[in-house]
Amino acid sequence: MTRRTIADRARGFLREWSIPRQIAGQSHRDEAARSSLSRDLRPRLEEADTVGTGICPYCAVGCAQRLYARDGRLIHVEGDPRSPINQGTLCPKGAATFGLLTSPQRLQHVLYRAPHADRWEVKPLDWAMDRIAALVKRTRDETFVRELPDGTRVNHTLGLASLGGATLDNEENYLIKKFFSGGLGMVWIENQARV
Ligand code: SF4
Repeated sequence: MTRRTIADRARGFLREWSIPRQIAGQSHRDEAARSSLSRDLRPRLEEADTVGTGICPYCAVGCAQRLYARDGRLIHVEGDPRSPINQGTLCPKGAATFGLLTSPQRLQHVLYRAPHADRWEVKPLDWAMDRIAALVKRTRDETFVRELPDGTRVNHTLGLASLGGATLDNEENYLIKKFFSGGLGMVWIENQARV
């Protein structure tokens, strides 16, 4: 290991410390205020070519996020300072959203076990969404009741129920209630926050 001599240290001190450079005539506002370290620093998100907005998916606080991407790939997620809810901040869970979205361990498929089968099958996510939609439609059609035997109009189904999670915010719960209750005729709609 090379030992720095006192003369080397003195030269480094004069080169890096701003006051000797200001005494030598450099402006304190620009070059004299920099060191070899700060001279090479770059803005953290300089490479981003796209900035989008999102909502943290982890809890019902609904903190707003900014999502930075380059060439179509996410490179950073941070709190949106324009939000009156989180004012640019994110808790540790929200700050980990980048990992949630980019982790190679993120699941890209579902496991499906057909009725009476003894093994699981790997299926694409789109397949699962289509199957859920088809089963909801079929169940609703099979169980929808327009009137009770006494003639009371009900327009409901008791064959479907919804249990929401804690990550649902007010707006999502509003839409769920509108769609499931008004659209499908579901009666049993509950949210994890009330369980
Ligand atoms: S950042 Fe934290 S507090 Fe905000 S929505 Fe996400 S999990 Fe909730």
